[in-house]
Amino acid sequence: MEVAIAHMTFEEVAQAIAAKRLVIVPCGATEAHGPHMPCDTDTHQAEYVALKLAERIGAVMAPAIPYAVSKTFEHFAGTISLSIPTYQQLVYEVGAALIKQGFVNLLLLNGNRPNGTSNDAVARRLIDDLDQDFDFTVTAVSYWEPGAAAIHAHRRSGVGGMGHGCEFETSFQLATRPALVKMERLKGVYAPLVGWDLVAPGEPARTYRRRPTPRTNHASIFGDPHKASAASGAAFLEATIDALVKMMTSLQPSYEERRGNGAARNGGGVRAATGKTRKRIGRGTTAMHLK
Ligand SMILES: [Zn+2]
Repeated sequence: MEVAIAHMTFEEVAQAIAAKRLVIVPCGATEAHGPHMPCDTDTHQAEYVALKLAERIGAVMAPAIPYAVSKTFEHFAGTISLSIPTYQQLVYEVGAALIKQGFVNLLLLNGNRPNGTSNDAVARRLIDDLDQDFDFTVTAVSYWEPGAAAIHAHRRSGVGGMGHGCEFETSFQLATRPALVKMERLKGVYAPLVGWDLVAPGEPARTYRRRPTPRTNHASIFGDPHKASAASGAAFLEATIDALVKMMTSLQPSYEERRGNGAARNGGGVRAATGKTRKRIGRGTTAMHLK
């Protein structure tokens, strides 16, 4: 079954809408990823995970968003960043278009950490603006988040070794596009552990400071790509996709749905059915068809 909207005819997309298939919007970025990896790393990864997830649960995938919030690395060649308001407006309009076409379940699947908080805000705004006219759900998550504990358990680098162009992303690329990874260019590159980590448990606060530049001998890396390997990448990917499938098949909305006089109905909210091969998440018009 085709999952990429980009490769479907409009009639096939209409059928996907009628079948209540979830639509996934991969949110990538175009930015420097160290001296060893391509600038489309985040877009490729968000799209790769979205495709695998869509195949597993019977969803469809919208074309990936290749430009996003990349201000951190805008002093490095190859980085093309939108401002945060422009990015949010872009994702908002993509989401609104899909909802107005009739999709009732939308997943914003993020592949670039700074997009994450923006995507949360966009999800809220879609509901705030459209919930009186359309009955839909919107979910925002960064693809590494559901499987973070399992990824953390597989890692070789210390805490602070998985951020950007790091052990995690380099392993992902080695497992999926090894021809585009130039590990020899990491020779002698200083890549210390940093003060945050994609997957390790840690403090929830985010503290920002002056951004890196090539002038300060920074390699546009946060973390330790020297510890990366294709085998680790395969393990990270398996953990990532399994966790996302599990998340999407047991999804709960943020609060229960109430209708009419305000009395909560029996089992209000989203419940996963226990069918062997097919599941429906949600009730009424937002019930989602899953494989
Ligand atoms: Zn990245």
